[in-house]
Amino acid sequence: MPQRLSDYLKKEYGEKIYRLSLSSGCTCPNRDGKIGTGGCTFCSEGGSGEFAADFVDIDTQIEDAKALIRKKTDACKFIAYFQSYTNTYGDAGRLKELYMSAIKREEIVTLSIGTRPDCLGTDIMDMLIELKQIKPVWIELGLQTIHEETARRINRGYDLQVFEDAYKRLKEAGITVIVHVILGLPGETKEMMLDTVRFLASLEPSLDGIKLQNLQILKGTKMYEEYVSMQNHIFSMEEYTDLVTECISLLPAQTVVHRMTGDGPRKLLVAPLWVTDKKRVLNMLTKKTVGLWI
Ligand code: SF4
Repeated sequence: MPQRLSDYLKKEYGEKIYRLSLSSGCTCPNRDGKIGTGGCTFCSEGGSGEFAADFVDIDTQIEDAKALIRKKTDACKFIAYFQSYTNTYGDAGRLKELYMSAIKREEIVTLSIGTRPDCLGTDIMDMLIELKQIKPVWIELGLQTIHEETARRINRGYDLQVFEDAYKRLKEAGITVIVHVILGLPGETKEMMLDTVRFLASLEPSLDGIKLQNLQILKGTKMYEEYVSMQNHIFSMEEYTDLVTECISLLPAQTVVHRMTGDGPRKLLVAPLWVTDKKRVLNMLTKKTVGLWI
């Protein structure tokens, strides 16, 4: 039985914690030619993080993001979340200065960095270990699937062994690891998707966190072209919420579920349109997953 992120954060900090979507100014090696060009086929121009701020100095980004949240809440504590592109792809010295500035601020309780497992060299690992001495550091890895044929089809640009190696090194360094999984990738059966979750559920040491989301077809992506020409099956809300419920039932107590449905950019979203009614999706998931949480 896994835990919900909201419950985990309440236990850890005794209050609601909000995410600040920030930009590190990094690009992605799967877009700029170092590993590949064109990127993962589902990824839009915004690098899978349409809500992040543009790159300006980090204190300005943090103040602007806090001001937005405080229009609706009296939030005091925040996670500095670097989501778009590959936030460990760049000069370790520059990144260290950037992340230090964020993590040293009193109101920042955790640093969360989205990246690829093939962008965690020694200098970056040393930086993460240093940052971790100050506050918790979460590394978010976009694995999406364990199946090599799907990985090639979506142009992910690394194989499972690279993920396994990065996972081992991160856990040995005491860093919290959160893995992103996309349900509904073309060519995958339900069993294949459940196999990805089973694999993650069996990792040693246990996986700290998981983000599940359904495949979203976004305008301007290669996945959109494939969808138009092949009319790939897209989950209905009913099918998706049933599958997520099955995934949740497979996860161990140590794993925190950070996300159960995606937050795609509305202006780019082609299908499925039901994801825009996030409240309805979450209500359905709340009902279906009763009894599956710690
Ligand atoms: S690694 Fe991330 S940012 Fe780069 S193309 Fe893939 S999803 Fe987009």
